[in-house]
Amino acid sequence: MKALQHYIGGCWVGPVAPGSTYPVINPASEEQVAEIQMASAADVDLAVAAAVLAFPAFATAPLAERLDSLRRIKAIFVRRFDEMVHAITTEMGAPLDLSRKSQAAAGPDHIDATIVAAGNLDWETRMGESNVVYEPIGVCGLITPWNWPINQIMAKVAPALAAGCTVVLKPSEQAPLSAQLVAEFIDEARLPAGVFNLVHGSGPTVGHAMSAHPHIDMMSFTGSTRAGVDVARTAADSIKRVTQELGGKSPNIVFADSDLEKAITESVRRCFNNTGQSCNAPTRLLVEDTVYDAAAQLAARLAESTPVGDPASPGRHLGPLASRMQFDKVQKCIEMGIAEGARLIAGGLGRPTGFARGFYARPTVFADVHNQMQIAREEIFGPVLCLMRFKALDEAVAHAHEHLDPSHPRP
Ligand code: NAD
Repeated sequence: MKALQHYIGGCWVGPVAPGSTYPVINPASEEQVAEIQMASAADVDLAVAAAVLAFPAFATAPLAERLDSLRRIKAIFVRRFDEMVHAITTEMGAPLDLSRKSQAAAGPDHIDATIVAAGNLDWETRMGESNVVYEPIGVCGLITPWNWPINQIMAKVAPALAAGCTVVLKPSEQAPLSAQLVAEFIDEARLPAGVFNLVHGSGPTVGHAMSAHPHIDMMSFTGSTRAGVDVARTAADSIKRVTQELGGKSPNIVFADSDLEKAITESVRRCFNNTGQSCNAPTRLLVEDTVYDAAAQLAARLAESTPVGDPASPGRHLGPLASRMQFDKVQKCIEMGIAEGARLIAGGLGRPTGFARGFYARPTVFADVHNQMQIAREEIFGPVLCLMRFKALDEAVAHAHEHLDPSHPRP
């Protein structure tokens, strides 16, 4: 079993004070495949110190040099692409085809896009009497989730490095294998020590220590709204910049004059993509009254015929949910929908037929959902679609805009 280490100052290291470990579980088999050494605030201090030391030289290196570093990282990524595909499938259950075409592919794509954007940017411009110069912010603390692990990591790491920032990355403790590979690629690409640092650990310990750290100049966070609020609050005391991408419950409005078959097929496919674990999944399907029943029938049929299978097999099926925690949460939400009186028209509780283990959920559709129900308001993050009926455009727009988390009412 692989024991994952931190990568600090260009070296693979264990924690300063040996503490707890965290198991990495393959969600298809429920078996442990690796473990991480959980870091403490002392490890964050070391990583930040390395990033602070590396910053002046990296920030003033010519842009061409930094972009060359990114090209080297990309070349290694492409050479070791299959390792990345398998790491993502193993850590969070994305089926191999999805992992290959989207999940892992996002890595080199973000590097390419960054190289183009950085190459086209006017780093110094004249604005009236002023000279406007784009400068690196400093040390960036990056915190990422498990659902699109490489997409999130590379969308943060590549632009930070292109800009001349140095970074401390804390990936999700549930999906650390892909992050470990990124560190290996960067190590092999021979970036100056301390430019990129990886610290494994939990949000409340490592994420909190990063957000509070006086020598981290910016936090970039992607994850749940709850943790995002925590990061922003903690970062406020040191007035660092914070960017966030948080949770969602996207509405999707279907009108009677649309091509119904096409609209519903696309809605169901997008809602279930990545086993429903995407922040932009259109999980609320608002359908105009006159075509509502036909839409419900179609959505139920599509859900019932959505294949679920082993993520290690090729094909366009859904894999398991990423973790037991996610499986339990989705089951609770389905229970909640049933208790609230939503009409279950496909799927439901438990695993799909034929699965005795693994965190597999049934592709599920609820009809007759309304915004007062909790399942319409909470991010479920599983293959669960909520159908809602509307009669007039203003009603659909009002429903779509209604703020979804009752604890954060819209002003
Ligand atoms: P999460 O918030 O539990 O964890 C995300 C990351 O934040 C992890 O690395 C975790 O360790 C860390 N973290 C947790 N608590 C923290 C704290 N108090 N301080 C600092 N860091 C903390 O979310 P998750 O379950 O891993 O990811 C799923 C969530 O991410 C969903 O809500 C989803 O919508 C959201 N997400 C949003 C986007 C987007 O682009 N908007 C993209 C992907 C995921």
